[in-house]
Amino acid sequence: MITFIKTDMHTHTIASGHAYSTILENVAAAKNMGLEAIAITEHGPTMPGSVHPIYFHNYTVVPRQIDHIYVFCGVELNVLDYQGNVDLSNNLLSRLDFIIASMHGNILDSGSIQNHTEAWLGAIQNPYIDCIGHPGRGDFEFELSEVLTACKRNNVAIEVNVKSLEKYSNRPRCEDIVLGCKAYEVPILVNSDAHFALDVGQLQPSIDFLNSLNFPVELVINRDLKSLLPWLAKRKPWKSDIQDLAKQFSS
Ligand SMILES: [Zn+2]
Ligand SMILES: [Zn+2]
Repeated sequence: MITFIKTDMHTHTIASGHAYSTILENVAAAKNMGLEAIAITEHGPTMPGSVHPIYFHNYTVVPRQIDHIYVFCGVELNVLDYQGNVDLSNNLLSRLDFIIASMHGNILDSGSIQNHTEAWLGAIQNPYIDCIGHPGRGDFEFELSEVLTACKRNNVAIEVNVKSLEKYSNRPRCEDIVLGCKAYEVPILVNSDAHFALDVGQLQPSIDFLNSLNFPVELVINRDLKSLLPWLAKRKPWKSDIQDLAKQFSS
């Protein structure tokens, strides 16, 4: 049974253009919720109102730890086409701590199940993409077994997004995805997708949902830093700071 999740790997700040809190406010909220870590995952530059790529270059000024909360600097990329291309260069992606790719209706037209499946398969092939964002939304249906097989092969995680669950019509699809992850042993990340600080770490509806499906704790890879870091370090062998942090948490 899942009792807590101590990292929230999908949060936005004012930089995303339609979110309303700062990094410090998100960190304070995380501390208040008893979390160990958050990821700042601003929308990629194609999202109207979001940042220029230079924002991601300069993440180096953000401390790894703020008031005892670990901060991972990342992005929520936009899937741009049915080949799974995304909106930051590989050079830039290689510097980031954590990378989600998502399909958004204002950027990608919805096509056929085959179109969306191919787009996900393309994105999963990208070695920098760590997680498939909010796949449980109803607008981009895809062939679940093909995508989960590719996730398993590439050690890519599937997100359980609390915002998708809020919409009741998404629940059957979310249930299929979660049961698929259980069957294929694909790791999941349980995230808030907060666009306001008070939503950071508010994950109880997802925890209840997963427990109702007897979802195995060990596949909830962001339940704490001790479980998250070995997975993240394995995904990013070129990032020495993540390797060092993972070592620190394993000893
Ligand atoms: Zn999104
Ligand atoms: Zn988001």
